[in-house]
Amino acid sequence: MLLRAVDVFDIYVEPFIYSGFRPPNQPYSYYYRSLFSLHNETLSVWIHLFGTIILITQIFSQILQVSMNSYSTIQCIYLCYNCIGACMMLLCSAQAHLFHSRTLADHLRSFYLDYFGISFYGFTSGIILYRFSHKQQFSTFTNETSYYLILSLLSLYSLSVACFCKTYYRRPYPFSHKILQCSGVLILYLVQIWPILNNIFYTFILSNNGRTIIKSEEKALVWHLIQITSFILSGLIFVARIPERFCPGSFDLCGQSHHAFHLTIFLTSFTQANAVFEDMHTISWNNVHYNWKKDMLLSLIVFILESITVFVWFHISRPTIERRYKVDSKKQ
Ligand SMILES: [Zn+2]
Repeated sequence: MLLRAVDVFDIYVEPFIYSGFRPPNQPYSYYYRSLFSLHNETLSVWIHLFGTIILITQIFSQILQVSMNSYSTIQCIYLCYNCIGACMMLLCSAQAHLFHSRTLADHLRSFYLDYFGISFYGFTSGIILYRFSHKQQFSTFTNETSYYLILSLLSLYSLSVACFCKTYYRRPYPFSHKILQCSGVLILYLVQIWPILNNIFYTFILSNNGRTIIKSEEKALVWHLIQITSFILSGLIFVARIPERFCPGSFDLCGQSHHAFHLTIFLTSFTQANAVFEDMHTISWNNVHYNWKKDMLLSLIVFILESITVFVWFHISRPTIERRYKVDSKKQ
């Protein structure tokens, strides 16, 4: 039996969604089984699960296309690295939608893992784009160490600020909540996409300014253009909440904006992977060959730091949120 929004804690409820809530405090097996019944999270979970399968299929097809040479192993390592980052983001989000309404502790744990997936993919994607897609003449960061440092700090900021917003804001959210919540991801994305935006501007708007461009680079830029468009679209969909805003309660099970948001997020990572694959044909592999171990080590360090951040935030937030809802239940 499904519940209405007024029957569950408001922290489990998204704006303009009135029904289709699963009962809280059930065993975990209930939520796993709920994957196969229709409620207001079913499609959100499945879109990311299908997205993950498509990304894994994509990586297999790309690895099969890698021509055998002395750098093919490193190329495969980076392709897998990028795919793991994207799949982690989709799976972390899928688990959040599956378990967030079980208990308050599960809500925090699953959402913090979701933020972890987003921030960590923001980092891995930043590394991949720097290695293969940033062209020197359009690069803002000529110093690799400063770029890596800024990327790591922004990834940690993006995760921390999202955890902070979950802990200290409550419905109805003020506008500052949305700005703060989106700021981390937005800055992280802007830093890594800026050189590519410059390249797109010079290539397609200024018709290259006399620079010759090879076929692979042109193909890559078209894929980048699609990934940037889907990223912007995902942000607009996330903020606007259309169509449910105009007809609250009518799109609870199917057609709510969050479904379109998940589709555009998947499309962003799918097209980014295609763009990077094309960019791999345009670079000199010597430099990459000497740096791949450094990239993997730094990723491991960021992974550990972000895991600690999630752990710490969970232990800060849990008593605050549980106290807040205990007080509310007593009032009722
Ligand atoms: Zn989601």
